[in-house]
Amino acid sequence: MAMRSKVNFKCPECNANVEAEQWTAVNGEKNPQQKLKILEGTLFKAKCPKCGKETKIGYPLLYNDTKQGYMIWLVYDDESVKNTIDYFKSSKNDIVDDENGEEVDENCRRRIVMSPESLREKIMIFDSGLDDKMIEILKLAYAKEAQRTLRDDNIAAAFFSNRNGEKHIEMYTEKGKAFVSPVSKKIYEEIEDKYGGKASYAEDRVFIIDDVWALDLLRAMR
Ligand SMILES: [Zn+2]
Repeated sequence: MAMRSKVNFKCPECNANVEAEQWTAVNGEKNPQQKLKILEGTLFKAKCPKCGKETKIGYPLLYNDTKQGYMIWLVYDDESVKNTIDYFKSSKNDIVDDENGEEVDENCRRRIVMSPESLREKIMIFDSGLDDKMIEILKLAYAKEAQRTLRDDNIAAAFFSNRNGEKHIEMYTEKGKAFVSPVSKKIYEEIEDKYGGKASYAEDRVFIIDDVWALDLLRAMR
């Protein structure tokens, strides 16, 4: 399977031809440059050579890190989500690395995300040695706390970030206000003590770990 291909499109601003690279698979260890681009948010953007306008280019991609034991599929629609789940389920013991045919450990964490931002977040969580399930619960707790200080505005999104070892939860409100709170090791461990044993909750949805997953878990445990 080719790992990358070239696509051409017309710049929406000036109509010039833009050539862009699309990657079907990125291996965190073997493609460090592409990994960096995912983390910087530039792998899914193409710059017009004439006017400099950046255009978002969304395309599916498999990111994997065999050393740390995780693989993440980035897809964009419900049909692809369904197909990826079917694929994960039917190939539990014989998932192979798309790039070199190596077998992947069956304990490898498998995830599905639906935006480049979520892919970036997952990589940062796993590379920080953290559990994304616990981080989703932690994000809800932080968002609830931040929401208390708001009037006529709501927390709309929350992301984990790790910049040079500084781990934070970044939150954004509907009106564009931003909150950044450091990740407390103590709170993370408390969440792990309380919810860690429920890690296999909702087996069907276990590939999609997001705020909906976390809310479902909290509801089920009430
Ligand atoms: Zn242009």
